[in-house]
Amino acid sequence: MRNKYCFTAVMLFCVALCAGIFTGICRTMQKDNEEGKFLAVTSFYPVYIAAANVIGDCPGIRLQNLSEPQTGCLHDFQLTPEDMKLLSSADVFLVNGGGMESFLTDTAKEYPELAIIETAKDLILPNGNAHAWMSVKSYRKMTETMTESLCSLFPDYEKELRENARVYDAKLKELEEAQQEIAADAEGKKIISFHEAYEYLAKDYGFEICYTLNLDEERQVSAGEAADVLSAARENHADILFAEELYGKEFSDMIKKEIDMEVYYPDTLVRGDYDPDAYINGMQDNIHLLKKAFGD
Ligand SMILES: [Zn+2]
Repeated sequence: MRNKYCFTAVMLFCVALCAGIFTGICRTMQKDNEEGKFLAVTSFYPVYIAAANVIGDCPGIRLQNLSEPQTGCLHDFQLTPEDMKLLSSADVFLVNGGGMESFLTDTAKEYPELAIIETAKDLILPNGNAHAWMSVKSYRKMTETMTESLCSLFPDYEKELRENARVYDAKLKELEEAQQEIAADAEGKKIISFHEAYEYLAKDYGFEICYTLNLDEERQVSAGEAADVLSAARENHADILFAEELYGKEFSDMIKKEIDMEVYYPDTLVRGDYDPDAYINGMQDNIHLLKKAFGD
């Protein structure tokens, strides 16, 4: 009888040992061969900056961005063969979600094993507007969603990841408080916007967008659209225009010739350099810009 128990115990021990070794082998295989690290890939710039802060110099995770830092939004982005190669070796793909990455459904089908984390999944996106990082409050939530997912995927590094995220979030909280200082001046002011992303600034500061012309890419503006912008500005007595410098400058200059408006170019934070503080610096510049726009 005792022998029987003994045999069962030995068997259980062997099973546990084999399972342990097997899990270990699987893990090592998943790790990026180059440096023996897990590979986290981000889809585009704002997600990369958030991940650079959360992952930081975490010893076991390597971070790489799929697109270039100057690519901008990924509304019409097509994956290249190199992108596909990168994704095939990734352990996690961190994306914005909400429709920003138009190629995502195909990617999920192509790489069923790949963990895809939509950082905006816990947010309600108004009118399907995916530029959620433009609200500091929403960006904090996206960063939190990212952190939770990374911690459950890479439990060995949970301590480092959580600590990095805590430090970053403290800085973001300060940003949010700085925004509140000018919210009283911005509240209820009417503006014209040339980029969908500014809807999230309106959300944070409380100003009102009475007309949006979406110039998120290089395109021609029709005479009808120009007339609509002018009549919206006149009807609403809006004398402030927010445009993205890259695609909106030329048209803004034209509008300014027709009607007396102040034009400002808030940073959409969709491109820049890979400095981990880039989001914070860019948002601080936006706070100064909006102070100028709405202050007296
Ligand atoms: Zn966009």
